[in-house]
Amino acid sequence: RAKALGKAQWEVFTADMHSNASAQLQLEVDLRRAIERQEFQLHYQPIFHLETAAIVGFEALLRWHHPLRGLISPVEFIPVAEETGLILPISWWVLQEACRQLSRWQTQFPLEVPLFVSVNFSSKQFSEVGLIPQIEDILHTTGLAPQSLKLEITESAIMENAEATAAKLLEIKALGIQLGIDDFGTGYSSLSYLHRFPVDILKVDRSFVSAMDSHENLQIVHTITMLSQNLGMRAVAEGVETAEQAAQLRAMNCQYAQGYFFSKPIDASSMEHLLAHHYQSSPEDPSTLPLAR
Ligand code: C2E
Ligand code: MG
Ligand code: MG
Ligand code: MG
Repeated sequence: RAKALGKAQWEVFTADMHSNASAQLQLEVDLRRAIERQEFQLHYQPIFHLETAAIVGFEALLRWHHPLRGLISPVEFIPVAEETGLILPISWWVLQEACRQLSRWQTQFPLEVPLFVSVNFSSKQFSEVGLIPQIEDILHTTGLAPQSLKLEITESAIMENAEATAAKLLEIKALGIQLGIDDFGTGYSSLSYLHRFPVDILKVDRSFVSAMDSHENLQIVHTITMLSQNLGMRAVAEGVETAEQAAQLRAMNCQYAQGYFFSKPIDASSMEHLLAHHYQSSPEDPSTLPLAR
């Protein structure tokens, strides 16, 4: 009897594995066609200067509108894209689209310090031949100044191939592009890489920010903010969801923040409305900003 039950369980297990594998395969097939079928879209989440409550830039976040399954989260399809190498064409589409859009917004909303866009970078892109000329080409064709572009990389992407990555990061920096460490504090890396890599920004991971009601997490966020300042970098807090968190971050002199408290990631046309509303009054005088808190 035990044997029979074992066999039944085995069959359920393999059937399950089989459907997982074919679901994965289907996702790959669909992902392969998604660019040409124009199923990708960028959403933008505004990044706020905490002291003035001004929108200073955005993070570009990829969205996939699957024809049958609807919206699929990047958390689900980015890993598949990375395994299959499809991340490369997808990433180029993202960079091109983000730069094109920002260039338009900079013309529509000319500010003393121009708006920036922060784009997520995959570790796979570092080993791509012609990486630097391709970035230059996109900046050139979209007319975007390199100073307006920031690339977000994770600690694990840096540590994957530290020496080669360091060289690539220096080349990217030499173009005038800024570099940020995404999800800072969650990777298995040592702090020693921070002075070996030309990093400008630390993005404090949402897991710490959302749990600042605990003393330990508040101290961690404070420490990362001070660390960034002591190293001449700036800090961006991710995942700010409450007014209290925004106030706490401001009190610890964290420069920038993004999160649902300010705005969820929104599509380009919604962002255009938000910017129009935000900057209808003088951007030079933050006290007149409609969103000033
Ligand atoms: P990430 O780069 O750390 O992006 C921040 C994520 O946190 C986004 O999820 C954003 O929607 C979410 N978020 C922002 N504020 C809040 C908040 O207040 N509360 C909560 N609960 N969540 C918040 P999203 O858009 O689902 O993206 C997930 C991840 O997928 C990104 O994490 C990034 O690692 C990756 N990703 C997204 N777009 C791209 C892309 O174009 N290229 C690459 N390589 N990765 C991307
Ligand atoms: Mg990011
Ligand atoms: Mg992040
Ligand atoms: Mg994250």
